Amino acid sequence: KTEVNLQDIDSLAKTSFPLCMRHLFFKLREEHHLKHGGRQQLGLFLKGVGLKLEDALAFWRSEFSQKVGVEKFDKEYAYNVRHNYGKEGKRTDYTPFSCNKVILSTPGVGDHHGCPYRHFSEDNLRVALGSLHLGGRALDDIMEKVRNRHYQLACSITFEATHGSSCAGINHPNQYFEESQKILQ
Ligand code: SF4
Repeated sequence: KTEVNLQDIDSLAKTSFPLCMRHLFFKLREEHHLKHGGRQQLGLFLKGVGLKLEDALAFWRSEFSQKVGVEKFDKEYAYNVRHNYGKEGKRTDYTPFSCNKVILSTPGVGDHHGCPYRHFSEDNLRVALGSLHLGGRALDDIMEKVRNRHYQLACSITFEATHGSSCAGINHPNQYFEESQKILQ
C-alpha cells in the first residue's frame, strides 16, 4: 500500500482528488472545521489515499486547533480520527466511502460532504468545475449527465477532461485518486 507525505497533501488535492474530496479538503483549510459527515467522508478517503494515522492526527489537529484550540481537539475530535483507523472502540478498520454511499448521503445546512454533481446547485457546480479550468464541450457534457442524474459519468468526464486521458468509469473516490496518480506519477 502506498503512503503519502503530509507535506504533499495540498498538491495532491489539487491534482488528484475528485471534486467531492477536493471541496471538503479546501473547506477544511478555509474554515478550519468540518461537521461530522465531512470528517468521516474526507477522513476515510485520506486513510485510503495512504495518510498514516500520526499524519492524519497532525493534519486534523493543525486545522481544528485554529478554530477550537488544541485542548478541545485532543479531547473531542482526536478519538474519532483514531477510531476511523481502527484504534478505538470496536477496532473496526473502517473502509472509505464508495460513490454510491456519498451520492446517497444527505448533507444538511452547513455540511460540505456529499457528491457535488448530486448535491450542488447548478450554479455552484459550474463554479467548482470552472476552478478546474473546465469549460466548453466538456462542461456541457458534464452538465447534461448531471441533468440525467448520471453523476458518476459526469465525474468520469471531469477526470478525462482534466487528465487528458480516458478512465475506466468512476465508482469510488479512491479509485479516482489512484487512476489519477497512475497518469501523473
Ligand atoms: Fe466523488 Fe464519486 Fe461524486 Fe466523483 S462521482 S465527486 S468520486 S462521489
